[in-house]
Amino acid sequence: MMRMTVLASGSKGNSTVIASSNTRVLVDAGLSCRELIRRMRLAGEDPESLDAILITHEHQDHVAGLGVLARKFGIPVYFTEPTHRAWVRMLTPRTTMSYAEWLDHVQREKEARANAAAAQPALGICDSMSAAVEASASALEDTDEIEEPAARTKPEPTYLPTVEYFRSGRQFSIGDIEITPFTIPHDAADPCGFVFAAEGARMALATDLGYMPPNVKEALKRIDVLLLESNHDLEMLKDGPYPWSVKQRVLSRVGHLSNLATAEFLRHDYDGSASYIVLGHISESNNAPELARLAAEQALDNHPTLLGNRILLAEQAAPLAPICL
Ligand SMILES: [Zn+2]
Ligand SMILES: [Zn+2]
Repeated sequence: MMRMTVLASGSKGNSTVIASSNTRVLVDAGLSCRELIRRMRLAGEDPESLDAILITHEHQDHVAGLGVLARKFGIPVYFTEPTHRAWVRMLTPRTTMSYAEWLDHVQREKEARANAAAAQPALGICDSMSAAVEASASALEDTDEIEEPAARTKPEPTYLPTVEYFRSGRQFSIGDIEITPFTIPHDAADPCGFVFAAEGARMALATDLGYMPPNVKEALKRIDVLLLESNHDLEMLKDGPYPWSVKQRVLSRVGHLSNLATAEFLRHDYDGSASYIVLGHISESNNAPELARLAAEQALDNHPTLLGNRILLAEQAAPLAPICL
């Protein structure tokens, strides 16, 4: 059995659990750690049993709770190297980081991990002091605040217990889930979507893309559950509250898919194979969920909708019920 649980979707935060019977991964961690935990529990997902966190790109709405969540439960984080570097740079208070400084940073993190691993056995013997420090650090992390007193007990914000790199186009596995990342056109360092395959089912996530290039159309074939962006209504965006420069960004080839662009994909390129299509990253300012649904429904009129191609709308404020296959 395979399962997708969308915890949140939209410009204020994105996160989705993908699970097989044996393995659970979280795609993006774009809410505070506390809110991610709350929503996972609400949706019947256990945050402590996550095997990995996978990151699509370094925008805040995809990484807001990443460091705190990964440290809290010791969860390995999977990035592409450019995305990891962009994330570290974002959290490091200086505007530029040379490649030499980046390599330095990677080395320091390795040493910090080696030290943490070496310190672990000692804890059991007598080091109640460092256990207390760790406990207070994790209690602090619970608050999820950026500015905290007692900063000396707090780990570096860029510190992660384990980092693994993947590359778009190269398949890898976590437990029994086979994962194929694919490149998407978006204004981030090295953004990607994912196809997950386990136990005979395939699920895919494709949000935050300015248009549908051939490689994405190809990646989204033979998918059983598809989380697909339907970000904005063109008219609402044009008349909406965003400043001109932001409107240009959203509309650009590295921005977000409009209802129309998503409908065009569904009408002309989509193979009709999904049981569920989840429309996501729906803008609260420049879209209405029913407009997104209507555009997709009209585009799917050549596909049977009785047993397949059911449309769900992902929400910003609350998790969707798990979709099980
Ligand atoms: Zn986003
Ligand atoms: Zn983005």
